[in-house]
Amino acid sequence: MSQVKAYAALTNDADLVPHKIERRNIKDTDVKIEIDFCGVCHSDIHQVRNDWKNSKYPVVPGHEIIGRVTEVGSKANNFKVGDLVGVGCMVDSCRECDSCKENLEQYCENGATFTYNGVDKDLGGHTFGGYSEQIIVDKDFILKVPENLDTKAVAPLLCAGITTWSPLIEWNVKKGDKVGVIGLGGLGHMGIKFAHALGAKVIMITTSPSKAEDAKSLGADDVLISKDTEEMKSHANSFDFILNTIPVGHDINPYLGLLKRDGTMVLVGAIEPIDPVHGGALVTGRKRVAGSLIGGIKETQEMLDFCGEHNIVSDVEMIDIQNINTAFDRVVKSDVKYRFVIDMKSLKEA
Ligand code: NAP
Ligand code: ZN
Repeated sequence: MSQVKAYAALTNDADLVPHKIERRNIKDTDVKIEIDFCGVCHSDIHQVRNDWKNSKYPVVPGHEIIGRVTEVGSKANNFKVGDLVGVGCMVDSCRECDSCKENLEQYCENGATFTYNGVDKDLGGHTFGGYSEQIIVDKDFILKVPENLDTKAVAPLLCAGITTWSPLIEWNVKKGDKVGVIGLGGLGHMGIKFAHALGAKVIMITTSPSKAEDAKSLGADDVLISKDTEEMKSHANSFDFILNTIPVGHDINPYLGLLKRDGTMVLVGAIEPIDPVHGGALVTGRKRVAGSLIGGIKETQEMLDFCGEHNIVSDVEMIDIQNINTAFDRVVKSDVKYRFVIDMKSLKEA
């Protein structure tokens, strides 16, 4: 075991503070990674604040991890020292259930091990994420990162990227489809970029008129202000697919009115109760509501490779770890363009 520096929340209402954590000794199938950058996902805030009522303290968040390999176990020979790699939301799964066999480890029927707040099978207790100097991860849960991309802007692809990519691919979004993305934050801005790259006509659905220009420069063809009922009416029954990233429970009925017959809305943001759905809003147009959780490891690698080929990265605001608490407050206020990424050098210097 070794002790490494990290930033942790010790309770649900405390600021994150410097903290020491243990990392396991490297096993045959493990890879040790020196963390260069870590994105700040809204889930980090939910978990720190115990919004989902399952947090274990101390919470060391961080599941958008980019770094360099510094050591490899004897059976981890698909990696070598110096490789640029990524770690997302999962670090292990059972590998035997139907979901794991179908490369859908995120839905592991025996419970995937999440990068933080998961069950630590080696040291006991719970797992610690990327707001730390180093992480040791099994080779099968490590992604290869294309070297041609801006490394710091790749970090958010490991969660915001795959979470938006996976439903767009699963629901076969294609050229000519009219796609809505609700919520222009970390997930939403990647949703626009991917839907645009797949050839869809993309409409940004936002509560923030001030984000309209940004939405267009990210690839949206048009912007719909969700609070404007007249504008909402003018888009009624017209969308093939809507990706909903709103981070809290809300009334989805107005958005269902936007779907055309057989259209689907996928929820990725609200991992909590939502307001009652009006059956008629679904029945009268054979409409569907679905959910989606991140993406499997194979699919995450495909997404990263696609990004390498199409030169797609996140729009990021860099911060030092010492400013993490202010960054959390700003994310909650929807005041980030469009993902904070921590330069982890700042932790070494702390
Ligand atoms: P974010 O950066 O805070 O973006 C969320 C956006 O939603 C905001 O920028 C805002 O956009 C809009 N919004 C916020 N509050 C709203 C409200 N009350 N009503 C309507 N719109 C609202 O968050 P994120 O990092 O993209 O994460 C979004 C959610 O997805 C979080 O709950 C996170 O935990 C969850 N998540 C899920 C998965 C998964 O696998 N399913 C993975 C990662 C994250 P506008 O200003 O444009 O309205
Ligand atoms: Zn996330």
